[in-house]
Amino acid sequence: MSFEMESRACNEQFARVVVAVFLSRLDPTVEELDDVKTAVSEAVTNCVIHGYEEGEGIIRVEVSIDGRTAAVRVIDHGVGIADVKKAMEPMYTSRPDKERSGMGFSFMEAFMDELEVESEPGKGTVVTMKKTIGGTEQ
Ligand code: ATP
Ligand code: MG
Repeated sequence: MSFEMESRACNEQFARVVVAVFLSRLDPTVEELDDVKTAVSEAVTNCVIHGYEEGEGIIRVEVSIDGRTAAVRVIDHGVGIADVKKAMEPMYTSRPDKERSGMGFSFMEAFMDELEVESEPGKGTVVTMKKTIGGTEQ
């Protein structure tokens, strides 16, 4: 399943709800769903604020299910990230002026099982996150 939307702060809410509804077939717990929703919010917010610097752009979200594992991909064609490793460090932000805390990637990493960030300056960023639903249950 995939969808594209304009890069706007208000679409963050839309994206997290659509992803949550799609994943409901895996019968996730409220906590699992909250984790995914938080991660999606962080990724989409990053596209809006950093990728497109609050200007115009299209954000693409792809969601797939493989067994009990959900994969969510958030794609922008914005400014990209020069140093992905540095960007992913806890508390690193390029926008302290905007009162960002630099914790977005850390949250995505904490709330999902896997996080992969691919980016090229001037081309955009692809954030891929995976989480196994019911994975911690015996
Ligand atoms: P917070 O998420 O806590 O509000 P933040 O957005 O700065 O702060 P992260 O989400 O961890 O922190 O992102 C770290 C840095 O990575 C950002 O400051 C920005 O420089 C860069 N970055 C993240 N996502 C993107 C993106 N989609 N396009 C361009 N740069 C990005
Ligand atoms: Mg962020």
